[in-house]
Amino acid sequence: MRSFTYERPLEASGAIAAAAGVGAKFISGGTNLLDLMRLEIECPTHLVDISRLPFNVIEPSPEGGLRIGAQVSNSALAADMTVRTRYAVLSQAVVAGASGQLRNKASVGGNLLQRTRCPYFYDTSAACNKRAPGMGCDALGGFNRNHAILGASEYCIATNPSDMAVALAALDAVVELLGDHGVVRRVPLLDFHRLPGDTPHIETNIAPGEMITAVILPPPPPGGQRYRKVRDRASYEFALVSVAAIVAAEGGTITAARVALGGVAHKPWRSADAERALVDRPATMATFREAADAALSQARGRGQNDFKIELARRTICRTLEQAAHAAP
Ligand code: SF4
Repeated sequence: MRSFTYERPLEASGAIAAAAGVGAKFISGGTNLLDLMRLEIECPTHLVDISRLPFNVIEPSPEGGLRIGAQVSNSALAADMTVRTRYAVLSQAVVAGASGQLRNKASVGGNLLQRTRCPYFYDTSAACNKRAPGMGCDALGGFNRNHAILGASEYCIATNPSDMAVALAALDAVVELLGDHGVVRRVPLLDFHRLPGDTPHIETNIAPGEMITAVILPPPPPGGQRYRKVRDRASYEFALVSVAAIVAAEGGTITAARVALGGVAHKPWRSADAERALVDRPATMATFREAADAALSQARGRGQNDFKIELARRTICRTLEQAAHAAP
């Protein structure tokens, strides 16, 4: 690990000012950043610890939703009674991520900024456009069992590792950012993360020096909510495929639906095609299969990850069925 300086401001304005210098970086829980620093994939010269800033509250928003401070731990978020009862899909997704110890330490803001777990990104002897733009991508012809089947490019086929972000995508969450001179910006979660294109090293639309201060949830949509994650082992493992589904039905007919996928793309993948295939249709497995086919019509495997297309299809169907029968 390279040497760095460290400070822990107690006010947001001080943190923004401290992070303005070249080589500075925010740190909160550090559950991903410290690993990256040990491997010298990230080499900040100055760390600005924002974990003590007063952004650790979950409170009702004026619009009838919820405002979640960026420094709220993943554990506190999952355990919050309002989240568990009104935004069950979010609580389920957070609990499905990482381990208990990591969830105690990891912050909501940090969860959104965690880097991919593509093994070539962490192997400094491998070619990786995300770590070193222009170097190439060893995953294209290499070990790509966990890689993207949607929205990938010839520059990068990595996936976003967050479970929380998939549920937030289904809930139409908004990310609140604070920048220089106290400027506040609100970015829909669906626009916060980027597809790789030819710049996979730019993963979000956060501007230099901006800090996440909160995630804002609108009032929950109607219907039952369910998050389902399929992975190689039952705990402490990233998703091969995950699905966040919210389904409302009346008299056996679907009146509203949300479908978001994780483990399949460079960003949380909300499927408008699947949602269109569900609304005003009977809440049957035949409809769920049509929705899954719509969600995956553009899916493309790279060899070892071909199985994820069928896995995603089955996971979408099962999760939609569970959401349709879940208590709203
Ligand atoms: Fe790097 Fe992306 Fe290729 Fe992985 S898939 S090696 S992160 S460029």
